[in-house]
Amino acid sequence: MGRSSKDKQALEEKKGIIPPDSLSKTAAKKLKNSRLKIPTTAELIDPLLKGDRTALSRAITLVESTASKHQQQAKELIEACLPHANRSIRIGVTGVPGVGKSTFIEQFGTMLASQGQKIAVLAVDPSSSLSKGSILGDKTRMESLVNNEQVFIRPSASGDSLGGVARKTREAILLCEAAGFNIIVIETVGVGQSETAVHSMTDFFLLLKLAGAGDELQGIKRGIMEMADAIVINKADGENIKAAKLAKTEFNRALHLYPPKVDGWRPETLTCSALHNEGIDKVWNLIEGYLKLAKEKSTFQKKRKEQNRFWLLQTIDSRLKREFYEHPKVKKELEKQLELLSENRTTPFAAAEKVLSLAKLNS
Ligand code: GDP
Repeated sequence: MGRSSKDKQALEEKKGIIPPDSLSKTAAKKLKNSRLKIPTTAELIDPLLKGDRTALSRAITLVESTASKHQQQAKELIEACLPHANRSIRIGVTGVPGVGKSTFIEQFGTMLASQGQKIAVLAVDPSSSLSKGSILGDKTRMESLVNNEQVFIRPSASGDSLGGVARKTREAILLCEAAGFNIIVIETVGVGQSETAVHSMTDFFLLLKLAGAGDELQGIKRGIMEMADAIVINKADGENIKAAKLAKTEFNRALHLYPPKVDGWRPETLTCSALHNEGIDKVWNLIEGYLKLAKEKSTFQKKRKEQNRFWLLQTIDSRLKREFYEHPKVKKELEKQLELLSENRTTPFAAAEKVLSLAKLNS
């Protein structure tokens, strides 16, 4: 055995993919193959629809895979699951690292599970795809939820673009719904564009904040107030209570400056202490209030249909852009025009026209 294959074996043993040297080579190979074997669509779909978490997990792995043989199977799975999906409330949770998202979701999930609800927690973590490091994905988070029979937790999908990660997450939502999970929590960290993506795939969008030193509205990212259906000031405990109450008043005042949402909902600010499990029930009551309103006004499905439309157009848009910029003739022409532009021998608009005229390449 060459050095590199020895290293590989040692690594696989460490990861538990194959057992240590004590087993014969054939036995080890057999065991490895059985663990790596991907079940067929038929083998997956039945247990998945019955709520089997292992089948669900494997189905999501297929959806996340970039291998073309997996993509075909993933497509079949999604199609089989579609008639069973859609029966859930999708809740987006965002906030900066350290605000208490995982502590909050842990309490929130435990409370709902004790009421008989089935909760799936998915994460959209742009950092894991862009910097190869993950803010949300580490396994030590939400320890008590992981072992709850009513709960399914999936660390963040990875991918080379937010669009790719968003597609995988949307498909994972469908699979979770088909498996009978009726509350889907999609967590994201308040950096980059990920909130916008998560906002566009959820029914209710929750922004977690901390009470600051007064200037609550300073430094809050533009657009995020408009997206929030509720703001929750976490860590409202101990010496923080007073500041949290002040922050609540200030955020509520700011929220009232916005007109109600298109579905008639008026966002509100609440306080809670995820650590001490205080105020979590009020957040759920608020979400239930939203659901009641959305049902009365029949806006729930309408919003989802709009989201589907958004993702369809968004997917076409990003695919067209990528294919355009990656086309060798476009690359060459773009380089040429940039050169001419730097020498003042063309204008940005004339140069753009030249490059864009290549868009008819495929027709
Ligand atoms: P995340 O990065 O947003 O997921 O934040 P975590 O849930 O990991 O919480 C970050 C830190 O804040 C941890 O040390 C938590 O114990 C602490 N924390 C979370 N919620 C509360 C709370 O309600 N009150 C207090 N005092 N600490 C909290």
